Amino acid sequence: MSVALFGGTFNPVHFGHLRIATELAEQLQVKSIRMMPCAFPPHRDKPEVDGQQRLEMLQLAIDQQTVLQADDIELQRPAPSYTVDTVRLMRDKVGAQTPLFLCIGMDALNGLDRWHEWQRIQDYCHIVVSSRPGFSVPQSGPLAEWIDQRRCKDLAVLKQSAHGNVYFCELTMLAISSTSIRKKVSNGENIGFLTPDSVVDYIRQQHLYE
Ligand code: ATP
Repeated sequence: MSVALFGGTFNPVHFGHLRIATELAEQLQVKSIRMMPCAFPPHRDKPEVDGQQRLEMLQLAIDQQTVLQADDIELQRPAPSYTVDTVRLMRDKVGAQTPLFLCIGMDALNGLDRWHEWQRIQDYCHIVVSSRPGFSVPQSGPLAEWIDQRRCKDLAVLKQSAHGNVYFCELTMLAISSTSIRKKVSNGENIGFLTPDSVVDYIRQQHLYE
């Protein structure tokens, strides 16, 4: 049974994340989707809410789900959270034969060649790319060639190997972002129906984003 990895800052987690994680689980038919809050994103400012709080919100949001799981693999290591290190560790955990999928957005794919040891990532996992409005597959240059050589269009074929391919899928993007939730909280606006009630309560109790 295959495993998928879905990383983010999750500051806080919201229904946009939960919706695409659910769709990924269905489309890829995996045993689990590991949602991994990053310790310190190398390409972004350090979040003001700590990793433990972001993990707790994720756990509350996922609740009793069996397919979606909160994974603290990136919080256990000193920052920064390099993806290549995460997939290497995860490969050790799941064993050599299990197909492992790293799920990223099309926006991230376009900057993949700036990631630390980016060409090594496929030694440990497949890369699953979800379409995003305003972004398309790189058309020229070394990254485009690298993708072309590894692209696989058939999920059944993809699952016959444990790592090494790039696969594209269509997922539903909801018009929700963590940024908009943080802004609403700081403006005293209602964030109901943007994230589960348990997360809304947690944000209120912990006085986050005020
Ligand atoms: P921020 O607003 O702080 O930038 P965010 O809402 O984009 O945060 P992240 O934790 O950075 O959330 O995102 C983690 C992953 O989820 C990324 O791959 C991102 O592309 C994806 N994602 C974020 N929001 C949505 C959404 N509304 N629908 C689908 N995917 C999303």
